[in-house]
Amino acid sequence: MTARLLDGKALAQTMQAEIAAGVAEFVKKTGIRPGLATVLVGDNPASQTYVRNKRRACEKADMTSAVHDLPASISQAELLAVVGKINADSSIHGILVQLPLPPHIDEAAIVDAVSPLKDVDGFGPENLGLLMAGRPRYLACTPHGVLQILQRNDISLRGKNVTIVGRSNIVGKPLALLLLQKGIDATVTVCHSRTADVGSVTRQADIVVMAIGSAHYLKAEMVRPGAVVVDVGTNRLADGKLVGDVDFERVKDVASAITPVPGGVGPMTITMLLFNTLEAAKKQA
Ligand code: NAP
Repeated sequence: MTARLLDGKALAQTMQAEIAAGVAEFVKKTGIRPGLATVLVGDNPASQTYVRNKRRACEKADMTSAVHDLPASISQAELLAVVGKINADSSIHGILVQLPLPPHIDEAAIVDAVSPLKDVDGFGPENLGLLMAGRPRYLACTPHGVLQILQRNDISLRGKNVTIVGRSNIVGKPLALLLLQKGIDATVTVCHSRTADVGSVTRQADIVVMAIGSAHYLKAEMVRPGAVVVDVGTNRLADGKLVGDVDFERVKDVASAITPVPGGVGPMTITMLLFNTLEAAKKQA
């Protein structure tokens, strides 16, 4: 079997065009242009690339992009003051603080300081709590991107066994909560680094989502023939090549559908950030 390719790049283009149309309609109706502030601390090259791509996508959708590039030496109090200022700026509807932050800064304190209505990353305790309570406001961007890739490719989740490998606060856990929502109705299992035998769990799954950050970890024999495989992982090999957590070349012969890296979940994460920023502008208008 050769798996169907779930093309996140093409879907992202389609959805970004839909969002741009939504922005134009919103501006026409209210005179308000949705605004996203991106906060980048230090000069981590991967973070610089992520933020550059987010800013570009934001401008392409005709949203206001407010750029805050801050030195790695910034103190926690100074960074909290920057976040406070953006919270109070009515022309900005969404705030993205690019993680990771330098080690001297308490990341949780910064995430908690972002106004919940502007928390378009969906990482803050209020938005995660609302998801937990079954009343989601802004969905975390990567989990939402995974859901969109599945739904827009007509892959049903209802009653399916989904195994998520990885339990981080930004991918694994919110994705598990999202897929458990009433109306989505997946049966969800989450694996992590202390799971005794990950392969024995992934082999039971109709859909496997990998989010651990370990190159080529998921092998063909860990996948049930015909399963759907979504690869969130991004790993840079020594030769500079970007690969996922899935041994793509072999798993594609076993799976029925699979996302590539690059060109799978990554572009969808940015797209859902734009989606949330438009939603945030609507809520704050
Ligand atoms: P993270 O915070 O480092 O969490 C990794 C998770 O994987 C942890 O729960 C860890 O378990 C688990 N894990 C690590 N090694 C494992 C193993 N051998 N077997 C089973 N579980 C294992 O990572 P993250 O932020 O969620 O990111 C995960 C990957 O997704 C990274 O490659 C990241 O770059 C990528 N990512 C991509 C996007 C995108 O838009 N494409 C967005 C976000 C993240 P413990 O909890 O037990 O330590």
